[in-house]
Amino acid sequence: RSTGGVGGINPENGSVNDAKNLRVKLVLLGDSGVGKSCIVLRFVRGQFDPTSKVTVGASFLSQTVALQDSTTVKFEIWDTAGQERYAALAPLYYRGAAVAVVVYDITSPESFTKAQYWVKELQKHGSPDIVMALVGNKADLHEKREVPVQDGIDYAEKNGMFFIETSAKTADNINQLFEEIAKRLPRPSP
Ligand code: GDP
Repeated sequence: RSTGGVGGINPENGSVNDAKNLRVKLVLLGDSGVGKSCIVLRFVRGQFDPTSKVTVGASFLSQTVALQDSTTVKFEIWDTAGQERYAALAPLYYRGAAVAVVVYDITSPESFTKAQYWVKELQKHGSPDIVMALVGNKADLHEKREVPVQDGIDYAEKNGMFFIETSAKTADNINQLFEEIAKRLPRPSP
């Protein structure tokens, strides 16, 4: 018998959404260039590799988070791969998503404004119980910072979102981002 499986999920029941093992769709949103692909690749592959991003169509990767209470969450992560330009596609993209991660770049006020646009879109078209996270990425570039941490904190709080600053480059807070989301997911009763 296999005892393996990604992150402790039993291959025989890994796909079942029971109280202990969840499988959820997670979508990434944000301006092009803020680091969405790099965040995913850092989380899934443990690497910072800006050259290996998917350029055509939506890419799809999955990764499992094991929590302390021995529950697991398998994230099926959807990256827009540039489709964020086509606003009309968005509702199709985030249909069925339990989680939305809205990313901006702390060195780019424009990307922070764009993040707020995506949050409004999600509030209009997303599932009402969607878990939303606001992520200020490129936190390693603090000498070029143009978006104060407090602005992110305040906006997230007003909109019922989880907030964190990350660096895909240094790996800072990347695992924490996904762990905190996993903890916030509503669970079916046992
Ligand atoms: P996407 O268009 O949102 O998917 O952005 P990418 O993941 O392709 O990243 C865009 C650029 O930002 C790349 O050149 C990365 O090298 C750079 N980048 C991404 N994350 C970070 C980060 O945390 N720190 C720094 N300094 N650069 C980053």
